[in-house]
Amino acid sequence: MRPPGSVVILGGGTAGWMTANLLQRNWNGTRITLIESSAIGIIGVGEGSTPQLKAFFDELGIAEAEWMPRCNATYKAGIEFSGWSDKPGYERYFHPFPTDLDGFTQPKFFYATHARRAGRDVPAHPDPFFLSTRVAREGLAPLAPPNFPFTVSYGYHFDAHLIGAFLRDFGTARGIEHVDARIASVDLDEQGNVKALVAEDGRRFEGDLFVDASGFRATIIEGALKEPHRPFGENLFNDRAVVAPTPLPESGIQACTRSIAKSAGWIWNIPLTNRIGNGYVYSSRYIDPDDAAAELRAHLGLAEDAEVRHLEMRCGRIERSWVRNCLAVGLAQGFLEPLEATALHIVLATVNAFVAAWDAGERDPFNTAIARRYEGIRDYLVCHYRTAQRRDTDYWRDATGNHALSDSLKGLITAWFTASDLEQEVLRQDIAGYYPPMSWHCMLAGYGNFPDQQKLKPPGSDVTPIDMAEVERFIGGCAMNFPPLSDALGHLKEAA
Ligand SMILES: Cc1cc2nc3c(=O)[nH]c(=O)nc-3n(C[C@H](O)[C@H](O)[C@H](O)COP(=O)(O)OP(=O)(O)OC[C@H]3O[C@@H](n4cnc5c(N)ncnc54)[C@H](O)[C@@H]3O)c2cc1C
Repeated sequence: MRPPGSVVILGGGTAGWMTANLLQRNWNGTRITLIESSAIGIIGVGEGSTPQLKAFFDELGIAEAEWMPRCNATYKAGIEFSGWSDKPGYERYFHPFPTDLDGFTQPKFFYATHARRAGRDVPAHPDPFFLSTRVAREGLAPLAPPNFPFTVSYGYHFDAHLIGAFLRDFGTARGIEHVDARIASVDLDEQGNVKALVAEDGRRFEGDLFVDASGFRATIIEGALKEPHRPFGENLFNDRAVVAPTPLPESGIQACTRSIAKSAGWIWNIPLTNRIGNGYVYSSRYIDPDDAAAELRAHLGLAEDAEVRHLEMRCGRIERSWVRNCLAVGLAQGFLEPLEATALHIVLATVNAFVAAWDAGERDPFNTAIARRYEGIRDYLVCHYRTAQRRDTDYWRDATGNHALSDSLKGLITAWFTASDLEQEVLRQDIAGYYPPMSWHCMLAGYGNFPDQQKLKPPGSDVTPIDMAEVERFIGGCAMNFPPLSDALGHLKEAA
């Protein structure tokens, strides 16, 4: 199909501005208008990314020195989970972003987890095996030097308001029209297609294609087009968050998000160049907002009356993301709780797939693929809760005892606990595009999902010994090539 003549985007949050810039880049003859209401504002959270965000900036030709200092951004090599397991030795683990170097150590790690699952006493904690883990822990930046012949993936942390403002300035300088108006109604034609968005002041915005990036309101896709919403509350319990910033610690920051399990959820800790962003994601079935705020303040060492912001979250996805002449993106399209910071990743995957599907005129396969992506990521998140090793509160007893699992996830968990080949199971199910075998192994091993120590037998002659000193030398030797995080961020500021 030929690109549409005009696109109207409702919503100026991160999702709306990312979509506007990507469409503008792909369809440069198309007139793009983005409408947002400064009176409503944006959700103002969502400050961690996956490596997909780097691909986005690369695609737009925006250098790190151009955007990162303006958004108080830092580098991210992965996520550290702590407090999710009370098994000795498994109190924390790191979910690293992949590197080409993993090809040397990952097979050893997979072998070790297999042997330990089969009852042999070999070291199988993920952390020593991955370069990104080492880079973050040593306070380095995941920036491979120019002469380093291996790719190292990384993501970012950034200020949610500033990244929107940056993308707005970038887009409007390239011809995207920006309108501040509050949309009051959506006009449909006789066939049920969207004809126009109508503002409170009477202005009408007509277009060929509409993008609903209106956040949890989902004004067009759900409000006007009545597309059903599929909730994920049955197996993802968290429905609220309470957030509060703290100053940077004197000890400096590391290139990772931290996720710390708490009585009814978990607290994130995201380092920017000027502050730490913190938030407690919890289930209101198990703790009320005041108690959650008190638990957050206590964790952060804040005064009992320190200001916090409360948010409601709606986990689930819209049945179909592309309905008639409307594409839903961002929170209007769906939301999986932020444990793995995947929301913006899905926005980018959606828009890129949409452009290809539009060109090919293939709506149904697109909608099926997006739905599968949501469920694939959902299963990975559910697995965190199901296989965490803590049972000290009702929340954790219910989360770890949850039986509302998809067939796919049941297959993966069965493969793990029967000491089968988990890598093959991930590949067989064709879900490595959502989370690769490395991520599944790290999570399941990282929480200590192995037979109890007293049941393990010495390795024996049928198990090839893993030389952990050699792994350590290899990872340590590679890490020496990476600069301190503070130096890397300083250079960006100087270059800006
Ligand atoms: C607690 C929490 C933590 C999160 N953490 C992460 C994370 O670490 N990583 C990640 O990738 N994602 C995260 N997310 C998700 C992330 O916040 C969102 O995906 C991202 O901010 C994009 O939001 P959005 O643009 O869809 O919606 P919003 O930011 O809510 O923007 C909606 C836009 O629509 C406009 N609008 C709505 N109605 C109207 C109307 N009637 N007229 C005019 N304009 C209108 C608003 O003014 C606004 O501009 C998190 C979400 C939550 C709730």
